[in-house]
Amino acid sequence: MTTTPETITINSFVMNEEIEKEREPSATHGRLLPPPEATYHSFEAASNAITAWTKVQGYALTIRLTQRNKNNEIYRRQFRCSRGTRQNNGYLDDSTRLRCTSSTKEGCPMAIWCIADDSANPAGAWNVRWLKDQEKSHFHTHSAVTNLSAFAPHRRAERTEEMEDFMLKHDIANVPASKMLVLLQQHFPGSLQTKRDINNFKYQIRRRALGSATPAEGALQALEENNFFYRYVIDENTNRLKRMFMAHPDNVKLFSTNHDLILMDCTFKTNRYNKPLLNICGSTANNKTFTIAVAILGGERESEFVWAFEQLFELIRLERIDLLEVFIVDRDRASLNALQVVFPSVPIRLCVWHISKDILARCRKSFQMVPVSGSRNGQYEDMEIVDQFMELYYQAASAKTAQEFEETREKLHECWEEGAAYLDNEWWPHKEMIVSLWTDKVVNFDQTSTSRVEASHAKMKKWLETGRADIYSFIMKLTSLWSQVSSTLSQVHSSETITLPFRYQDPFYAPCLRRISTYALSFVFDEIKWANQELKDLEQQRKKQSTESSTLSSIEPFSETNNIRSICTGVYTHTMGTPCRHRLRDLKEQGLSLEPKEFHKHWWLDRSVDNPQTSSPILEFTTQIRSRFKRNGTWSRKTGSGKYGSRREELVSEQRDQNSTINQSRRRQERTRLRPLASSITNSTPNNSLITSANPTPSLLPNLTPAPTLSPILPQVQVHSSQTNAGAHNIYCGFPPPLQQQQPAVNLQQYPYIHQQANLPQYQFLTPPLQTYNYQPQVQPCLPSPLSFQPNSIPSSQTNMPPPPGPRSTYIPSRASDFSRYTSFSSNFSHGA
Ligand SMILES: [Zn+2]
Ligand SMILES: [Zn+2]
Repeated sequence: MTTTPETITINSFVMNEEIEKEREPSATHGRLLPPPEATYHSFEAASNAITAWTKVQGYALTIRLTQRNKNNEIYRRQFRCSRGTRQNNGYLDDSTRLRCTSSTKEGCPMAIWCIADDSANPAGAWNVRWLKDQEKSHFHTHSAVTNLSAFAPHRRAERTEEMEDFMLKHDIANVPASKMLVLLQQHFPGSLQTKRDINNFKYQIRRRALGSATPAEGALQALEENNFFYRYVIDENTNRLKRMFMAHPDNVKLFSTNHDLILMDCTFKTNRYNKPLLNICGSTANNKTFTIAVAILGGERESEFVWAFEQLFELIRLERIDLLEVFIVDRDRASLNALQVVFPSVPIRLCVWHISKDILARCRKSFQMVPVSGSRNGQYEDMEIVDQFMELYYQAASAKTAQEFEETREKLHECWEEGAAYLDNEWWPHKEMIVSLWTDKVVNFDQTSTSRVEASHAKMKKWLETGRADIYSFIMKLTSLWSQVSSTLSQVHSSETITLPFRYQDPFYAPCLRRISTYALSFVFDEIKWANQELKDLEQQRKKQSTESSTLSSIEPFSETNNIRSICTGVYTHTMGTPCRHRLRDLKEQGLSLEPKEFHKHWWLDRSVDNPQTSSPILEFTTQIRSRFKRNGTWSRKTGSGKYGSRREELVSEQRDQNSTINQSRRRQERTRLRPLASSITNSTPNNSLITSANPTPSLLPNLTPAPTLSPILPQVQVHSSQTNAGAHNIYCGFPPPLQQQQPAVNLQQYPYIHQQANLPQYQFLTPPLQTYNYQPQVQPCLPSPLSFQPNSIPSSQTNMPPPPGPRSTYIPSRASDFSRYTSFSSNFSHGA
């Protein structure tokens, strides 16, 4: 290590000066101190002390030189600055260097010694000593670094066993490095670990688990240890894996109870070998997708698929599954042929989405359609002939009779010959798997496309994180995914067996509750809704016809034959495996309840039970739905108050006590609500005075004569009206008028004008439901009994304004009958005509 310190010194000084210019004056730069010379009781203690010291100083030391004693034990270690030695590794130049690498080294000469106190006993005390030339231990060619995570030695030194354990656990849960970094920094505050450290650690775990085995050997071992159902083929010449089929034990368990429907599709970019992955999926009674098995195939040839399906067949045989209802596959012809070879008796349905996508692609190619510029979703320009052709295709695919199908097929030929020929060659040979005429005979449980397999692909790829996983990490990662998915599904299933959705708390559903999945019951719910709608429509139609026939005698009167319900074709029940609206209506009309046997076993939560227990779950009381406010149009209390209101009616004592909190809060509420009104009034009055000023202020209503000050307080009065002999309305306050003189209603919109005509002094109150109303002062507000009150007996010449009714002047009826009349009256008043 013969370096030339002079040149380095000159270089580094220049560099430091440059940095100095750029940096702010407060930045850490100065003399970096070496660890102090001291004695520690062990090497670990010394090493920890050195690390702690250098962390504070902003540099790192690494062991570069060791010396051993006679017993071959290290007794001297030289720590050097991590930025020491040369920048270049010496044997690579620009022409031979393959990777674009970099180095932090810049030939810093700083070093110290760490020497055992007794060279024969390195387990004892250790000394930290500077170099003989002490200047070398104090001199650095660089300044301090603020973020210590730049130093690999510090990152390595802080990685404790606890930290590695933490990372290992999160790696098992497949936490990506970026998220793990966040968790790590939360769990170990001040941690210096970087994303790359975590990725390196993940790789280390993998290496450790694999040991000396190849990834393929490791994968096979993992499959065996995790009790997979797996089969593989090895190329005899190269000893390489050719294809592999695997089914996770949890998925096999799910498959054994959910085997009616199998959806399949191939995907790519899941492994580094660019091999297609066949994803075989199933669907549970709760409409959840799960992967039954996956197969990594050698290619997309028919023989590959035949092999994969043979393994599936073996799995079915081992699990003693006796029935497969339907396969839903995409347009791939090789897999289609292979399916027909291995499972000749199982009906197949082609994914409708894949077919239309394929035909559309053909159209675009033939007509050289151009994508809409700027469209991200691959939208294409509209072309009438294409739209027409696709429309005809959909019509053909939904044909219910052979004749209808043939007719539409001819129309397709007329529309676009080339496209029709393409359909004839590509798709119509499989018409039994496409056209409703045939597919309606096959149960599909509401599945007509393989989109849920696509979703499963996406989930798998997201979990794998990379499209270039090797076979070992592929299996290890997917194992954790499948375990997680199956535990979620089993949790969903268990919760369904104990939950009772309120929607189905009807005796009609009782035998099916907790036996049929709620997803299937939702179909029934919708069908009943439709059946009711159909009846309603029929009723309306009947009414319409009867009115027409009454006005126009020429039209023959409504006959019973018109009241024909829609005819049951049985297609719904057959394809869905759930009862159709016709069957449900029949059941309802016969007063029968819905039995589990009406459903296909696919929808059963436990299909192993043939005759489920006859005891039905006990249901709650039926809830009578009551409207909160509508009570035959009568209002016996203030809005929102009382038993069914959100506001409690205050007690008598509270009504009297204006300082009580309930009154205060209510007053505050009222004030807020009436602020726009109240703020426009100049003569605001103190509380407790409803009418205080004889000087009227301008009213807000344009046609209203000036009224005295408005008070935002809620008056504790009831207001009524009656008509005087002169025809004007009297508005009473505090008690009802005599019953014989009651007027049922006063139109609020009108009565400002009435008062204007009568030329009577006007007063205004504010109450929450009314906003404004007028008050006639001639009326004596406080009379001993409401029933003895006679308004006409009060002299009309009385002009002195009576004191406003206090909060206690609310009318209290003496008899129940009075009360009802009274309430109905005030209700009419409050709400106008
Ligand atoms: Zn240094
Ligand atoms: Zn039907």
